[in-house]
Amino acid sequence: MDEATQDENGFWKDANGVAISVSASDLERHAYCPLSWKLAKEGHDGKGEAITAGIDKHQKIHDKIESFHNRSIDSRREIAVWTWTLSIVIIFLIDSFAFVYLEDDYLGISGDGFGSQEIGSLDSGWYHLTMYDTQGDGWNGTDLIMIDENNNLVAGPFELINGTEEKITFRLGSDCGGCLVIIRGVSLDSIEISWALSATDFVPPKELGKFLVMLSASVLFVSILMIALPWRERFGWNEPEIEQNNVVQTFDQKIFKPVWQTVDFVGGWISGGRIEGFALLSSIVIMIHGVSLYVADNRQQAALVLALVALLWLIISSSQLFKVLRSIAAREKLSLELGIDYSTKINYSDDSKESSILSDEEIGLRGRPDQIVIIDGSFIPVEQKTGKIPTDPHLSHKIQLLAYIHLIESSTGTKPPYGALRYGADVAFPIEWNDENRNLLMENIQEVQRLTIQGGAKRNHQQRGKCRNCSRKHVCNDSLS
Ligand code: SF4
Repeated sequence: MDEATQDENGFWKDANGVAISVSASDLERHAYCPLSWKLAKEGHDGKGEAITAGIDKHQKIHDKIESFHNRSIDSRREIAVWTWTLSIVIIFLIDSFAFVYLEDDYLGISGDGFGSQEIGSLDSGWYHLTMYDTQGDGWNGTDLIMIDENNNLVAGPFELINGTEEKITFRLGSDCGGCLVIIRGVSLDSIEISWALSATDFVPPKELGKFLVMLSASVLFVSILMIALPWRERFGWNEPEIEQNNVVQTFDQKIFKPVWQTVDFVGGWISGGRIEGFALLSSIVIMIHGVSLYVADNRQQAALVLALVALLWLIISSSQLFKVLRSIAAREKLSLELGIDYSTKINYSDDSKESSILSDEEIGLRGRPDQIVIIDGSFIPVEQKTGKIPTDPHLSHKIQLLAYIHLIESSTGTKPPYGALRYGADVAFPIEWNDENRNLLMENIQEVQRLTIQGGAKRNHQQRGKCRNCSRKHVCNDSLS
């Protein structure tokens, strides 16, 4: 240490050029009283009810801050799930209304009795054939077929098995030129038989149901492959893009769980992220949709089934909405208790155990703030203080906070406009990060480094009250109290 010298900027460095280490807490103690800093350096811990109560309060604040942050994530997750379930309700309802209200295109083609009837050319597509029987006993073996101009069978045979009316849907695979409808009669009375033809753009519920079930199976298969195989690696895609930011990397991942997947999630063998989750859920919804349509015999039934499924999803969605409201209420309660805005984003909270320390090796400064919050896109350090609320922030607290502001600036490369000193839940002092405060911080760092090298720390005040409240008065020979 004797060989330590000051560099061109005034910071003290040892013989190896390593800056003399100074913590933000060192700066706080030194600014309170240099003798208190010296005693702490010599290993004398602070004592007193204020210290014990302070540690306890500090831990409670951390717990609440952590809880607030986790509630924020819960809220976002619950809202995402609720939005998803509500979207499903809306999709099912739209389908249901479409099945009821979309009109078929009546072609004005109809006929009755036995024999054949030219109906002109029909385009390929879906058609409805409505068969009538005035006696109400079906066609009794009589049937209807459609042939084209080359006598090829293009649709049928269709028969009304019983009752007075039945509507069936069929598809013409190709255009039918010179189409002919033939009623092949075997029943005794041809007068009771008639029919009408209409075109529809609507795929019949059963056909649509079959398609959706197959689509669902395909999506499920792809989802399983996506989970089983390291496809991201093959495509050279690591998601999401992680912003290279030391503070985020150091704190965010360690303490708080993200909404859907960890920020360092890169996929791999037997692993899934939000894309795989979305694909699996989609396959389930498509499957439900498909099965609902498949069991329906006609459009009215399909509409009813879809409406019932929508009602079921609405119940699920309502219970999800309840969770959303409960989560928001819990978050609001915590924001009131903590005295912070409901929308505040907490990037990090010091739990005194796991958190990494920020440092600036160039000047030897290190420390960790109580919290880092994100306000208007800037990382803002927050230092919580317990005990009596002052009318102005104490100088020692201010210098400690300035140290954190500098550490965030040097770690992230972005300048926090200010930091916040909080006393209790209701009082917060913003401390601006300007040249004057920067100089104040640097002077204090250099002074603590000098005292570390040269010694000579002394009481710098004549205030009895300060000594009375000092946590190291029990080992101080220069105390005024
Ligand atoms: S008791 Fe007074 S002089 Fe001693 S360390 Fe504390 S504040 Fe400084």
